Amino acid sequence: MKPSTRVNHPPEVHVPADNRPLVAPVYQSVKFTFGSIGETERHGRGEREGFYYSRISNPTLRQLELTLAQLQGREDCLLTASGVAAVNLALLALCKQDDHVVLFAEMYQPTRYMVRRLLARYGVRHTMLSIADTDAIERTLETTPTRLVIFETPSNPMLKIADLERITAAARAHRALTVLDNTFAGFHNHGQFDIDVFVHSLTKYASGHGDVMGGAIIANRATLNAMRPDLIVTGATLDPHAAFLVQRGMKTYFLRYERQCENALAVARFLEAHPKVESVCYPGLPSHPQHALARRQMHDFGSVVTFSIRGDRATARTFTEALRLFAISASLGSTESLVQPGQIMRPRDLNEAEREWAGIADTTVRLSIGIEDAADLIADLEQALARCP
Ligand SMILES: *Cc1c(COP(=O)(O)O)cnc(C)c1O
Repeated sequence: MKPSTRVNHPPEVHVPADNRPLVAPVYQSVKFTFGSIGETERHGRGEREGFYYSRISNPTLRQLELTLAQLQGREDCLLTASGVAAVNLALLALCKQDDHVVLFAEMYQPTRYMVRRLLARYGVRHTMLSIADTDAIERTLETTPTRLVIFETPSNPMLKIADLERITAAARAHRALTVLDNTFAGFHNHGQFDIDVFVHSLTKYASGHGDVMGGAIIANRATLNAMRPDLIVTGATLDPHAAFLVQRGMKTYFLRYERQCENALAVARFLEAHPKVESVCYPGLPSHPQHALARRQMHDFGSVVTFSIRGDRATARTFTEALRLFAISASLGSTESLVQPGQIMRPRDLNEAEREWAGIADTTVRLSIGIEDAADLIADLEQALARCP
């Protein structure tokens, strides 16, 4: 073989079956091959195990899919290139023309866009409600044949808790599917409820280090298999190296999540006692209007703490910019703490009544709490509050 041929057919390194790596290797290969046409065809007909093309399946992705499905308490999972891809592909695969979707003003903005603008172009109808109004959800499901309800809990950034028992019961009674974007609560929460499809952004708690994006659709096998052909041809595949990094992140998922929750509660308690703070919203605080519901539904309460600062938009700005440890940035669930004032979270696509439901004011400040030392975080918040009039 000439060198130009050799470099394209590198020597194979065989790892004996009784000599396994402790960490699974990254299968950074698009293609997989069988020794014969017959075996290739058998695989194509689903008659044997194996892999063929990484847009369809890949061993590195498969390991992560199984990890996440187990943790969420469902049979199967399909990974996507980002969280929004998971939300959007689930909606695309489940909806057809004339279907009716229920969604909420308190949702992730791109999800609202997907339903209200994109799916609307293909003839999917919708009703937008407030996640706080369970009666309205039940009424809508009773009166309007509905394909699916897509929702989040806790909501962003005001941390309203959806009543999962009532919503899932109403959906089941009226043959609507439930799709829960469970990004805020995490994979270890909400699995005990009768949810048909979970979607997650892996960019947040799963990756955990703010260095990789991904998404996951998690459901029982029959539901996911029905969606799979649509998902595969839309092509929002996760890269194997990204999947490897998320898998690595998952090893410390519980350590990080527990520490973040502990820190978040400490921060929430500190803020609640501070005279320059109007009110604090954290589902783990007894003062949260839905604390009892949150306790019933969740193991823990997440890393986002939202509060209202006494003053106006300028006060929120002074406070935000005075923080040293908290970076002004979107996202959540990473090791480092972040801050976002209401000014940069205001939803522009909502009408006045819907904005009221969303509940974001100029004095709203959202904190995403990391795994730093709680006392350092509180000292930083203290000095920033001291700079406010
Ligand atoms: C971040 C987020 C998404 C989107 O995830 P990306 O990975 O950024 O695409 C979807 N839903 C919720 C609730 C999120 O917080």
